[in-house]
Amino acid sequence: MNSSLLRKALDYINKDTSDQNESPKLIVVIRILVLSMLFYIITNSIIYISIQNNIGIGILLISFLVFLGLFFMSYRFRTTTVVYTLDLCMAAWIVVNIIYFGWNVGVQHFILVLLVLCFFSGYSQYTFKAFFAAVLCCFRIYLFYLCASKEPIVVLSTPMNNYLQIINTITIFWCISIVAYVFSKDSQALEGKLIDYNNQLQDQANTDALTGLYNRRKAMQYLEKLLTPSNTSFTSICICDIDFFKKVNDNYGHDVGDIVLQNLADIMTITLDKNILVARWGGEEFLLVFSGYNGDEAFACLETLRSSIKALEFKAKETTFSITMTFGLAEYDFSSDIDTVLKEADEKLYMGKENGRDQIVF
Ligand code: GH3
Ligand code: MG
Ligand code: MG
Repeated sequence: MNSSLLRKALDYINKDTSDQNESPKLIVVIRILVLSMLFYIITNSIIYISIQNNIGIGILLISFLVFLGLFFMSYRFRTTTVVYTLDLCMAAWIVVNIIYFGWNVGVQHFILVLLVLCFFSGYSQYTFKAFFAAVLCCFRIYLFYLCASKEPIVVLSTPMNNYLQIINTITIFWCISIVAYVFSKDSQALEGKLIDYNNQLQDQANTDALTGLYNRRKAMQYLEKLLTPSNTSFTSICICDIDFFKKVNDNYGHDVGDIVLQNLADIMTITLDKNILVARWGGEEFLLVFSGYNGDEAFACLETLRSSIKALEFKAKETTFSITMTFGLAEYDFSSDIDTVLKEADEKLYMGKENGRDQIVF
């Protein structure tokens, strides 16, 4: 029962603005602030009633009705209109309280709520926000001189003064926290989403869509980082290419060709150690980077891979077929540039093709 009532109340506070183009977040914050002010006025009534000042009680009643009106206004009027009206009502509340009880009860700090609200909410330009901040600053200084030149109408007893000071402090902290929480929560969530989105984009930019392997771009980045003068361990690089792949496409169709490419990518990643980079270099060519392997060690790994690929059977058009690959392997000599070692691997691949394919040339 209670929870459904609370849900209804929350739904009512969260209800949309009359204007679809306005930020629903801002109007919800405004409603919470107005409700907080209503609650605050009720708690303040203890003081006003205890001092038995009719004008004070009248002001309190009017303030209550104004803030209540403001709450309902938020469902009918534009958000900016509601915000400006709230600013004016708060300013009036501050002035009245300062005149009544003086500087010591701390009501002037409500100006900070308006300042925070102005900067967090996106309802105006930054130049206007700066101007508004300056106005609030002048307003506070003006209030200080107003208090310095005039005695308050009501001199409260110390306990009353302390009570008001505490209520004011709690309300101001609450209001500022609400505004900061709602707006910073969103920006943090947005920042998180942007980071995720950015990572996704980065992954997409580095990945070959068909095989899920790193693409040429990422492979080049990897090589640039790896082959630096400070790297003193062996690196071997292999470029490999499917033999007569065009025939696979011609005989069985492009879709089957794609499946072959995907299967080859899988077998490469499964057969080779995790620290060996496998990338799709282009069309039906792959690049393998053996970091920490000399040429002979890489050759041994490639021999296993070559046999595994040859043993694979593909089914298409009610027949089975298998494929072979040719590998060009080069060992980095610690001095030449990346293009040179890639060119060497490519030349060896070409030699393997010339010599009858299905082999590793080192
Ligand atoms: P070789 O043994 O000399 O390498 O002969 P090959 O037929 O493999 O060489 P060629 O360069 O003549 O043909 C490569 C073929 O690879 C041509 C192209 O249609 C095909 N190919 C490239 N990328 C893809 C792809 O993403 N999917 C499919 N299905 N085929 C592709
Ligand atoms: Mg080929
Ligand atoms: Mg090729």
